[in-house]
Amino acid sequence: QQRISHRIGSIAESATLAVDAKAKALKAAGRPVIGFGAGEPDFPTPDYIVAAAIEACRDPKWHRYTPAGGLPELKEAIAVKTLRDSGYQISASQVLVTNGGKQALYNAFAALLDPGDEALLPAPYWTTYPESIRLAGGVPVDIMTDETSGYRVTIDQLEAALTPRTKLLVFVSPSNPTGAVYSPAEVEAIGRWALAKGIWVVTDEIYEHLVYGDAEFASMPTLVPELAERCVVVNGVAKTYAMTGWRVGWIAGPADVVKAATNLQSHATSNVANVSQVAALAAVSGDLTAVAEMRTAFDRRRQAIAEILDAIDGVTCPLPEGAFYVYPSVKGVLGRTIRGRLADSSAELAAIILDEAEVAVVPGEAFGTPGYLRLSYALGDDDLREGATRIANLLGQAQ
Ligand code: PLP
Repeated sequence: QQRISHRIGSIAESATLAVDAKAKALKAAGRPVIGFGAGEPDFPTPDYIVAAAIEACRDPKWHRYTPAGGLPELKEAIAVKTLRDSGYQISASQVLVTNGGKQALYNAFAALLDPGDEALLPAPYWTTYPESIRLAGGVPVDIMTDETSGYRVTIDQLEAALTPRTKLLVFVSPSNPTGAVYSPAEVEAIGRWALAKGIWVVTDEIYEHLVYGDAEFASMPTLVPELAERCVVVNGVAKTYAMTGWRVGWIAGPADVVKAATNLQSHATSNVANVSQVAALAAVSGDLTAVAEMRTAFDRRRQAIAEILDAIDGVTCPLPEGAFYVYPSVKGVLGRTIRGRLADSSAELAAIILDEAEVAVVPGEAFGTPGYLRLSYALGDDDLREGATRIANLLGQAQ
């Protein structure tokens, strides 16, 4: 017998949270570290949302448990918001309110996957997906994409990865870590493919409002309504309303899946903090003015950082179309020496950048694709320029 179970013992620490924690610790120790690690907007939560939470704190009515599945009025508002933002019609009974998008994903995977069931996972993937799939007993099946296809998976690739054990596809657009956005035609084609193959889709829409230029967000079950019976939408307030710390997300899907996931949650964590749910209610019931302002800032930062990084010898940085990440290839830098240290992998390069330039970035190893770095541009403009310039100056010394 071993002390820690195989299931939990094999889970890796979240690399993105680890990088962020290291950067914050160095900062607390007085180092001028600039952190591109965490996917966290630098804006405060909008006032009207905070005000709703303060009011809820003062009213004993909100000091109690809510139903495990969430406040009925919040579930109703999520159904209304889903129709408004993505044209997808659902009822409140198809919603489960969770502790952030992370728990939404785990609940969805746990409700759908039996041991050995395969989940198709296009890479680069967000670091939590494979661990969450494994935790639920499933087997992640990586499908590699790269910058030459704009980090977008093709139907041919999906087809090649399909086996009799395939239960579901994980789909995310806009994507973390690449910022890729699938066109509505591509979203529909993938949805129709899943429908034809009889597999489920877990589609993560948490960055739905963060698209730039001509890119357009599209919701798969809206474009392929017949897929609704085998589709689970994951979403949350963290990225849209700068509410990462409030921990409110949800799944929207077929009633039987939502019921099963609610049963799981009723034993694992019960309801999300009541006050946070009231705050989320204010967020999803309000308009989208605040996110429009944040989007303008992110768009500016996206262009600034991509330009600085792409100009570095050995670095290729595509301009992302959504979310708030750039995902440059650093393959042209690997094998070179920087201030006496050999950068033989993107993990080592990230360590060198942290030590030598005091800039925190997440290596591509965390997303299933070594040879890349992920930088979140959800930080202030001045820090962003300073941090990117420090990286450019350091990598300029590579020999
Ligand atoms: N999905 C994606 C693609 C994300 O990038 C994140 C956060 O980084 C989440 C879900 C979960 O966010 P949260 O648990 O903070 O709601």
